[in-house]
Amino acid sequence: YAAKRHGKGRVHRFTPDLLAADDDATLAAELRVALAEGQLEVLYQPIVATADGRCTAVEALVRWRHPERGLLSPATFLGVAEARGLIVPVGAHVLARACTDVASWYDAGHPVAVHVNASAAQLSAPGAVADVIRNLVEHGLAADRLVIEVTESSALDTPAVRAALQELDALGVRIAIDDFGTGYAALTALRELPVDVVKIDKSFVTGAATSVADEAVVYAIVEMAHRLGLETVAEGVETPEQEHFAGAVGATSVQGYLHGRPMTAADLTAWLAARSPVPVG
Ligand code: C2E
Ligand code: MG
Ligand code: MG
Ligand code: MG
Repeated sequence: YAAKRHGKGRVHRFTPDLLAADDDATLAAELRVALAEGQLEVLYQPIVATADGRCTAVEALVRWRHPERGLLSPATFLGVAEARGLIVPVGAHVLARACTDVASWYDAGHPVAVHVNASAAQLSAPGAVADVIRNLVEHGLAADRLVIEVTESSALDTPAVRAALQELDALGVRIAIDDFGTGYAALTALRELPVDVVKIDKSFVTGAATSVADEAVVYAIVEMAHRLGLETVAEGVETPEQEHFAGAVGATSVQGYLHGRPMTAADLTAWLAARSPVPVG
């Protein structure tokens, strides 16, 4: 009876679940168009060494420049991309863009590495490793210029994902565990995956100023990583105090708004040039 007031043909839209499903279908259809029409952009955020302040790497972070809704963050569309089988083309787009841009920074005298996020679904897709190789070769990039970031989760614990990570590692591509400490089996991931870099989750970095527990966790992660010969990146560093803390505990690098928000490739080129002028002649 209530449905009738809203006109015929709309009855099915009344339950919130169906509403959400309908929205997801629309979003997925729009995302297909976005892929075809180049609406997906890649922003880059600097990763800065605590030892000398050099920018050693950047993280590629996807955005969707939606024609009506403006610039959309990954949280608004990656879930739908995963659910609707679009995460592989989205990931392929980001990887290709990141390799193109890191090659151009290399040519401009800025030998940064590029971190690219990958979900378990992307890594277990057929041809995932071949796609990485193709991009490296096409842009003449050494494998260690690329760091694949994975978030430790139960989804990583499959033979296909492990095989892909082992193959990438054997090629010399580096592997980072993202948001370290927040997952269900962070220590198992360290033991079982070919990890090179541990990214300490922002929540611990932020909490360390006020929480003895968070401070201890950061200390312990850095100490353990050091013993394992792994690099550490403190994520979400927003203040000089947080950077100082990261340096004092021995983290290799920091990433966060303090040094730079995610920015366009052009803006990052200018940022790199302003920071470390290329010697002339
Ligand atoms: P992430 O990989 O942990 O990336 C770091 C996120 O923290 C980014 O959010 C970044 O903008 C944000 N961030 C960096 N520094 C600070 C800071 O100082 N303060 C605060 N409050 N935030 C900071 P973003 O760009 O919205 O990305 C969210 C997540 O989406 C990423 O988390 C990553 O898991 C995922 N993601 C982004 N791009 C891709 C992609 O190309 N492929 C896949 N599979 N996932 C992606
Ligand atoms: Mg990441
Ligand atoms: Mg390795
Ligand atoms: Mg993270």
